[in-house]
This record gives sequence, structure tokens and C-alpha cells, in this order.
Amino acid sequence: MQIGFNKPYLTGNETVYIQQAVALEKISGDGEFTRRCHRFFEEKYGFRKALLTTSCTDALEMAAILINIGPGDEVIMPSYTFVSTANAFVLRGAKIVFADSCADNPNMDVRRIEPLITAQTKAIVPVHYAGVACDMDGIMQLADRYNLYVIEDAAQAIDSCYKGRPLGSIGHLAAFSFHETKNIMSGEGGMLAINDEQFIKRAEIIREKGTNRSAFFRGEVDKYGWVDVGSSFLPSDIIAAFLYAQLENLDTIQSRRRQIWESYYAGLVPLAGAGLLHLPDVPAYATNNAHMFYVVCRTGEEREGLLRYLKVNHVHAVFHYLSLHSSPFYHDKHDGRTLPNSDHYSDCLVRLPMYFELTEDQVRRVTEAVTGFYQTLTQPSFRSAESGYESL
Ligand SMILES: *Cc1c(COP(=O)(O)O)cnc(C)c1O
Repeated sequence: MQIGFNKPYLTGNETVYIQQAVALEKISGDGEFTRRCHRFFEEKYGFRKALLTTSCTDALEMAAILINIGPGDEVIMPSYTFVSTANAFVLRGAKIVFADSCADNPNMDVRRIEPLITAQTKAIVPVHYAGVACDMDGIMQLADRYNLYVIEDAAQAIDSCYKGRPLGSIGHLAAFSFHETKNIMSGEGGMLAINDEQFIKRAEIIREKGTNRSAFFRGEVDKYGWVDVGSSFLPSDIIAAFLYAQLENLDTIQSRRRQIWESYYAGLVPLAGAGLLHLPDVPAYATNNAHMFYVVCRTGEEREGLLRYLKVNHVHAVFHYLSLHSSPFYHDKHDGRTLPNSDHYSDCLVRLPMYFELTEDQVRRVTEAVTGFYQTLTQPSFRSAESGYESL
């Protein structure tokens, strides 16, 4: 039996709440379930304002509009990230300045940011890879000193902390994803978290096609009209109803994912101890929300061998980002600096199956398959045609 990479988990109440949302006869945006989701996030994580969006990509685009990104502006972010982190700012004419990842985890290396800051720099966009916090004190200090905005790409970082503070509550703005591959999901979906008061009113306007409709519905103005740029960034209440069912089960989902993560870690420690691969490093200032379990191989060739071996052994494991600085779209716009750590993760990182319903038995089968691959490397007698591993 094939072990898949991801399987969206349904708590059971998703369709119940969708029926309720439909029965309320207000199924466009900002209905009852959207309000419940907003309240949940604001109360649990201390965001000044939470606004559901149709995706994390949209939340990032809203952030770029809110800080008035335009041609000539520069935005610093990791190269090892999803395209949307960069695209949101490129769409508004910004130049992206890519910072390299840390040697011991894929997050942007804070020590590499300061030399990249120029008079044109407007924002830093840290990405909390695998839900593990970037060094936010270092980033916020730079932002203070150089008067920059910080927009957290917290797409993977729900329910995770930096020094006890929830991720997404530290930067001026933060973007979350509820895509079906994330811990908490609604198929497609996202959220903009606003921590700097000055952005709240305008964010509501940008999200509602550039109109002051939200203020109108609260009775703050007696008619609404076109007051700013904007687009349609708000999701239907049907999406929010789905999401709310997930939120009610957040603690259950998170604790099971953490157990799976710990089982993987325990199962693979011997390989790491033998120097055959690297396991994720969670710094002391960060918590682990078990969004992902990855290993880092020693070389790209070994990574290809491992992926092939796992495939033959019915385990669907996958690589992850290709460095954006060398992507077909951006390589001729990049300033030419090499980013060796980012390239190393592009070449050598493998994500193992990770989802709520993964059983301990399946986790064991995956760790045994990974171990089996390394046995083919270290003990030639293990080599066989069935191993799926022929030569490097
Ligand atoms: C998933 C993800 C996104 C995009 O999220 P969508 O909701 O699909 O737009 C952006 N950034 C990172 C780091 C992600 O993991």
C-alpha cells in the first residue's frame, strides 16, 4: 500500500457548518463564520486584526499594497521559499533582494540581511519554514534601525511561537495559508494578520475592492463608495464555515502531528548520528508546529537516490523549493550573488509523508524505508534489483 505525501483531514463538522452558513442566507464574505474565525485568531494569538482572505498569496498581495510598494522599492526575503512570497511584491514593481538561508536550517540567515539593506529597501519578509520561527528579534531590530516594514510569511506557521510569542503577531503584517497542504485548511484559503494599528482601516478597504463597504455595514458611514485601490480578497462564508470546523479541532490536530514528528525524529536519529543525513534543527527560541518533517541529504545525487528508493518502496516523499534567485523568471533580475545554503536545500532536502491520519505503523514503514536506502549505501550486500537503487 502506497503511503501518500499528504491527505487532507476532515474533522466531520465542515459540511455541518457549511449547511448552517447556507441556511443563514448570507454566504458571501464577512458572514457569521468569518466573524467567528476572526475572533478565534485575534483571541488565541493576539493579532490586532485578523482578516480572512482567499489565499496566503492574496494576503501577501494585500500587504504589498498596504505598505505602498512601487517601482524602485527593494524587498529582502529568502530565496528558498514559495513563489508567492516574491510575486506579491514583484507584481507592484519591487526588486527582490534574496538573502541566503542558515547553514543549519532553511530560514533566512539574519546575519546576512544588514549588508543587503539600501536606501531603497522598504521591507523584510521572513518565511518561517516548516513552521519554525526565524530569529525575529534580530529582524525586528534591523527593521527599527532602518525604518523598514516586516511582513511575516507565516503560511506554514499556524500555532507556533518565537520566544513564547505566536508567529504572525510579531511583524507589522503577517500572511497565513489554509491551503489543503497546511496544518489547518479550507481547501484554498488564507489570512492577513495586522499588528500595526495604522493598517487596519485601509486593509478592510483594499480587501473590499477599494470601497469602504465594511465601515458602511458597521454603520460608521451612511453610504459606501470607491475610496482607494483594492481587489476582491475576501472568501465566501462557506470557506470560513469549513475553516471554523478545523479551528475547533486545532489542539487535537496539532498534538497528533507533533507525535508523528517525534516518531520520525526518534526513528531517524541513528542515521543522523552516523552522519548519513541531517535532521531538522529547532532553535531554542522556536516551537515546532509539526507542519513538515524533512531530512537533508549530503548530496543532490544521494537525494535523487533516496527519492527513487522511497518511490519503489511505495512511500511518496518529495523535494521542495527551487531557489527563486536562479528560477527561469528571476535569474536575469538577480544581482548575481551565490546563495549556497539556499541551493543546498534545493538540491538535498526531502519531505516525508506528514498528515493527521498517518499511523504509527506507516511512520515506522517510512523510517524503515529511509534506513533501508542508507543500508544500500553502506552495506553493498543490501544492493539488489528490488531495492530500486542501482548506482549513484
Ligand atoms: C503555502 C505557502 C504559500 C501560499 O499559500 P496559498 O494559500 O496557497 O496562497 C506562501 N508561502 C509559503 C511559505 C507557503 O508555504
